[in-house]
Amino acid sequence: RKKELSKYRDRPCQTQDNHRIQLLANIATVNDIARLTDIGSDGIGLFRTEFLLMDAKRIPDEKAQFTQYYEALHLLGGKTMTIRTLDIGADKEFACLPNKMAEDNPALGVRGVRYSLLHRNMLRSQLRAVLRVAAFGPVRLMFPMLTQVEELDELRQEVALCQQQLAEEGKSFGELQYGIVVETPAAVLNLDSMLSQLDFVSIGSNDLAQYTLAADRTNQELTADYPAFSPAVLKMIEMTVTAAKKAGVSCSLCGEMASDPRIAPILVGMGLDELSVNPASMPEVKALLCEGAYTKFCDLARQALACKRLSDLESLLMSCQATN
Ligand code: PEP
Ligand code: MG
Repeated sequence: RKKELSKYRDRPCQTQDNHRIQLLANIATVNDIARLTDIGSDGIGLFRTEFLLMDAKRIPDEKAQFTQYYEALHLLGGKTMTIRTLDIGADKEFACLPNKMAEDNPALGVRGVRYSLLHRNMLRSQLRAVLRVAAFGPVRLMFPMLTQVEELDELRQEVALCQQQLAEEGKSFGELQYGIVVETPAAVLNLDSMLSQLDFVSIGSNDLAQYTLAADRTNQELTADYPAFSPAVLKMIEMTVTAAKKAGVSCSLCGEMASDPRIAPILVGMGLDELSVNPASMPEVKALLCEGAYTKFCDLARQALACKRLSDLESLLMSCQATN
C-alpha cells in the first residue's frame, strides 16, 4: 500500500471528477521542514513557529527567524508558505519566556495574539522577518486565537508600521496574504466583521472544538467523549465556510481532523477548498481524495451535517472506514 500511495506524490490533489483540492502540510519541527520535499504537498498550510522557542535559551531574533523561514521557503520551490505568528500560552508554554505570568485558566488566558499584542517587540521582530522573507516567494501570514475585529485592526496596524520601518531602512520586503485561524466560537460569530481585511481563513478545529465544547483538549478523560468531529463543531465549521465563501475568501482547515482519512473527504464535501495535514498523514489522505469523487464527498458531508448525535457521526465514520 505504501508504494501505491507514493504514486500520488507528484500529482495534483484532484478527485476522479476533477475537483481540485489544495493539500498542504502542517509544520511543527525542524525535521518536518527537512521532509517537505518528499511528501508531495501544495505548500505549508500551517507553520507552527513555536518550534523556534522549543529548547531555546533566548527568543530568536529577527535574523534567526528570517533564516529559518527562508530555508523552508527555499525547499518549497515556489509553493505557498503559511506562517502562523507565535501561539504562546495554554498548552504551549516555553522556558525561554520568563515574563509569562502564571494563570488560573491558561487556555482562557493570555495566549496567541493576546500575548503578541502585549509583547509588541517580539511581534514586530516576527512580522519583520516574515515581510522580508516574502520578497523571495509566496508567503501568507496568519494570526491565532482571535476573538474580535479590534485585534485584527491592531495587528494590521503593526504590519503597516513594520512595512514603514523596513522601507525607511531600505530593506526589501514582499506582499503578504493575510488570514486568521478560526479557532474560537467568537471568531466564527464575528467573522463577518473581519472578512473584509482577510485573504483567507483557516479553521483550527483542535481549539475550535476545545472552546466550543468547553473540554480541555489535553484532558485524556474527555477527548473520547468530546471529539472535534461532533455536531456542534461541524456546525461551527459550516458557518465559517458559508461566511467565507459569501465574501469570496478562501477557506482552509488545519486542525487534526483533516489528517484523519475518514474525515478529510467529508470536509472537502463541506466546501473546504484547502486542507492542511500532518506530513505523516499526507500520502494516505491524498490517495483517498484522488481516488474518490467530489459528488460522493458532498453526499457524505450532507449526511454528516444531518447527524444530531455523536453516535450517528461515529456510525458514519465506521461506514467510511469500511468503504476506504
Ligand atoms: C488548531 O487549534 O486546530 C490548530 C491547528 O492549531 P494548534 O493545534 O497548534 O493549536
Ligand atoms: Mg490552535
